[in-house]
Amino acid sequence: MNREIEIAIVGAGASGLMTGAMLGAKDVVIFEGNSKAGAKILVSGGGKCNVTNERVTPDHYLGDPDFVSAVLERFDQHAMLKWLKKRGLVAVMRKNGHYFCPQSASELLDILKRENSKHTTLLHEKIAHIEKKEGLFYLHGEKKSFRAKNVVIASGGLSFTLLGADEIGYTVAQSFGHTIKRTAPALVGLTLQKEQFFFKELSGVSTEVNITVGEQICSGALLFAHKGISGPAVLDASLYWEKGSITIDFLPGWSLREFLGSKKQLSTILPMPKRLSKAFLEHLDIPDRVVDQLTKEEVARILGLKQYSFAPAGTFGYSKAEVTKGGISTDEIDRDTMMSQKCEGLYFVGEVVDVTGRVGGYNFQWAWSSAYCCAEALSKLEE
Ligand SMILES: Cc1cc2nc3c(=O)[nH]c(=O)nc-3n(C[C@H](O)[C@H](O)[C@H](O)COP(=O)(O)OP(=O)(O)OC[C@H]3O[C@@H](n4cnc5c(N)ncnc54)[C@H](O)[C@@H]3O)c2cc1C
Repeated sequence: MNREIEIAIVGAGASGLMTGAMLGAKDVVIFEGNSKAGAKILVSGGGKCNVTNERVTPDHYLGDPDFVSAVLERFDQHAMLKWLKKRGLVAVMRKNGHYFCPQSASELLDILKRENSKHTTLLHEKIAHIEKKEGLFYLHGEKKSFRAKNVVIASGGLSFTLLGADEIGYTVAQSFGHTIKRTAPALVGLTLQKEQFFFKELSGVSTEVNITVGEQICSGALLFAHKGISGPAVLDASLYWEKGSITIDFLPGWSLREFLGSKKQLSTILPMPKRLSKAFLEHLDIPDRVVDQLTKEEVARILGLKQYSFAPAGTFGYSKAEVTKGGISTDEIDRDTMMSQKCEGLYFVGEVVDVTGRVGGYNFQWAWSSAYCCAEALSKLEE
């Protein structure tokens, strides 16, 4: 391709495809390193893609709340649902306001591809680096180079390398003078220290918890896994966890007081699966007897399950993380247009930016909203 491209988009994932979809008749070329577009969309939400959420506020994100709010307001969850409906996809609301595709994530991907049908998508075209000379961007692939007037970096984060994750977004941003906020795997399971190794024997058990990490409380299911702990509450907690302790309330909303004097067996009154209550009693060295016979000291130890603190050893890593937290600092990006404040014509959208959402459709909503702001600005440019 020898011609000068009007808008080059690096990455045919959620944010890149949405930016293209909203650029209608513009001259757009999408560069995708993978053999197919939207690989992450297809595996997301258990194959049904959790597209957005009924409640989307900056509180659901790690990142500058003013920046996040300004971007989300322009194209929020309702706008996204309407956009999909207009194209024949009526998303279905499930538990906790999570919206999913009715049948499969491919319904959403098909729409995004259809909306990009007038644009060129070059698959197997991995961009290695980008430079700007005399007002034009040069995108260097592995074999060819391309010229473009504007570039949108929609290359995502570092998680799931098998699905095409690559650090190009960060290296390009850095080469244009941008600051990168430290990146780390997020929405990921946490590994254990020796003292909690007994958790591993509970692999497959799930229980409701509240996890406190710093000032954040993450509620939902905790799943004991072979490598450590996982499940929605843990994934959310991993967003805020850096190092140090987390505190788990294994008995949320429960009070032993109601049962004091009871003749019931202790393991039967704890609101958790029996396998778990037995393991905890063994760990706390409390015999499973009738509640009435518990000593004050034993009661105190049981109530310790409401504030079970420990320091995770680490995370399951990028190979299991749903997203990458950190990324290109929003301090150097224009919130109205997603354009770099360091280089005119260079835009950043989606996960590559230092904004990361909790579990529940928030990361896709960020991809849609940031893509909208970018596309709106680009559509106003004269060719
Ligand atoms: C298993 C899993 C399940 C998930 N489920 C959900 C969910 O249900 N709801 C939700 O909100 N979020 C979910 N997420 C997170 C969500 O998928 C991402 O936040 C979202 O896809 C980010 O969109 P993006 O466009 O920024 O990046 P991506 O969708 O990752 O797209 C980036 C694209 O850029 C391409 N690329 C990278 N480097 C280059 C290069 N050098 N040259 C050319 N192309 C390149 C990649 O191949 C990829 O196609 C899930 C993630 C995973 C891994």
